[in-house]
Amino acid sequence: MRCKLCKRALALVLALTLPLGCLAEEDEEISIEDTAGIFLEEVTYDDVAWQFPIDLMALDPVLIRLANKQVLLGKDFVPSPLVTMKTRKANADGSNANGGVKKASSGEMKLQEECAAALVTMFEAALEDGITLYLKSAYRSWSTQNTMYSNRLKKNGGKDDGWVSKPGASDHQTGLGCDVVPYEWRDKGMNEKMATTEECQWMAAHCAEYGFIIRYPEDKEDVTEINYEPWHLRYVGNPAATYIMENGLCLEEFHQQLQEAIDQFLQDGGRESLVRDLIQMSADDQ
Ligand SMILES: [Zn+2]
Repeated sequence: MRCKLCKRALALVLALTLPLGCLAEEDEEISIEDTAGIFLEEVTYDDVAWQFPIDLMALDPVLIRLANKQVLLGKDFVPSPLVTMKTRKANADGSNANGGVKKASSGEMKLQEECAAALVTMFEAALEDGITLYLKSAYRSWSTQNTMYSNRLKKNGGKDDGWVSKPGASDHQTGLGCDVVPYEWRDKGMNEKMATTEECQWMAAHCAEYGFIIRYPEDKEDVTEINYEPWHLRYVGNPAATYIMENGLCLEEFHQQLQEAIDQFLQDGGRESLVRDLIQMSADDQ
């Protein structure tokens, strides 16, 4: 019998280097544990094939939730659980753990719990590489975003310049999006030049290892409708982050592929309850 799961590790390696469908048949069993949950082999649920490079069971609908101009979050959407960041950067003396070292200058920084923990881990790993990262901005409520958006419009004579998302469309409202800048840039205005810093290059190279993606990539402005932001990280969890970053996607493209897989799964008679939570719905349609 053909083993589906034991070849995942091999498939993971190949998925990172080969376009989908190029994987040659490989009969040898490989027993390396697959931590990313990415595979090319067919997995079935009730005999219906799930045709997506990430196992249905490895996709967390909460973590991959989309927020943009088309898919708006509701006024009442608040991520849960939300935690307060004890510090905005990693500290060489290990004071990260007991917290409270850097006092937030403009209110407390909050993030969804799993994202917050991953960020602290990433900050510590960066510090070990001599990179000091700083959390500039984290969770924003719908009403905070609303205020920011109208202030930006006023400043721009009513024109939306793409720098501030309208309420409901901000990745920051998910509690999984955050702006992380080089420590030296903590009080500077953010602009694309930041991308050339070693801190941003480190983030681009390593963020997926901690479950983060660059939410607004340089070459995806036409898809995201948001200017390139080398500082805006979005937590999606390891499997999705690995797939997205290795394949040079933005979250919108990831969802487009995922929705196609869901459509196919349902068309083939797959159970709706298995995929219901993964279907992206705008607050307006709910
Ligand atoms: Zn941001």
